[in-house]
Amino acid sequence: MIHKDHPRYESLRLRAKIVDAYKNGILADSGMIAHGRGEAFDYLLGEQSTENAKLAVEAAAAALLLAEHPIISVNGNTAALVPDKIVELSNELDIPIEINLFYRTSDRVLKIEKLLRDHGAKTVLGTDHEKKALIKGLEGPRSSSSAEGIYKADVVLVPLEDGDRAEALVKNGKLLITIDLNPLSRTAKTSSITIVDNIVRAIPNLIDTVINLSQTDKVTLHQIISNFDNKENIQSSLKKISKKYTGEDL
Ligand code: ATP
Ligand code: MG
Repeated sequence: MIHKDHPRYESLRLRAKIVDAYKNGILADSGMIAHGRGEAFDYLLGEQSTENAKLAVEAAAAALLLAEHPIISVNGNTAALVPDKIVELSNELDIPIEINLFYRTSDRVLKIEKLLRDHGAKTVLGTDHEKKALIKGLEGPRSSSSAEGIYKADVVLVPLEDGDRAEALVKNGKLLITIDLNPLSRTAKTSSITIVDNIVRAIPNLIDTVINLSQTDKVTLHQIISNFDNKENIQSSLKKISKKYTGEDL
């Protein structure tokens, strides 16, 4: 039991969720390591959503609202930390979810599917019993995607994606929205819109923003996207981190 008045309560609570998800077969062991890398960046970013994360969320919401075939990709860490919020976002936008695992096993896919359905998910793709299509530029099992899901999608929201897959998805013409605490990861650098924030804050912010923008006209939504500069946004996150290092914000 972690005490609520512990100064690292929130961080320790997330860590406990990650360990539980590993024990329950939702998360691969390497997912725990990925979480540790995320924690370090979150610490440096001040463990709160920055102004530039909010700008990226706004552009992401606009892209999802304008998309013809949007999809939300879910990996083990996302399923471990925010299964309820992912389902809420999917239902709010009325778009499907695809299970997309780096270390894929049938058992883990089934467990994540059940978890999402228990939270009220309607369409869950990426299971073992559906038509697959191969993403060009990738080899082996990682090239596989659901024919009706990521393969067909024009806009893909993919938190914590692997760098190779992110690069291939962008090369295949998709508008890629990622959530990644590391502004220097290949995924962060290649994506069209990178939300440098923790998924536990980014997904709820995205839900609120989608609701706020849901009545906005298409021209304005297009403007929000064209005013957004991903490189500049990533640089702002790096500046925030460097201030921590130089002690400027002590
Ligand atoms: P790349 O392959 O893109 O260069 P990587 O190898 O650094 O990235 P992976 O191990 O593929 O990274 O994926 C883990 C990524 O997810 C890390 O960049 C980490 O910062 C990020 N991450 C971990 N936990 C969270 C979280 N809760 N919210 C957002 N990002 C997270
Ligand atoms: Mg990687």
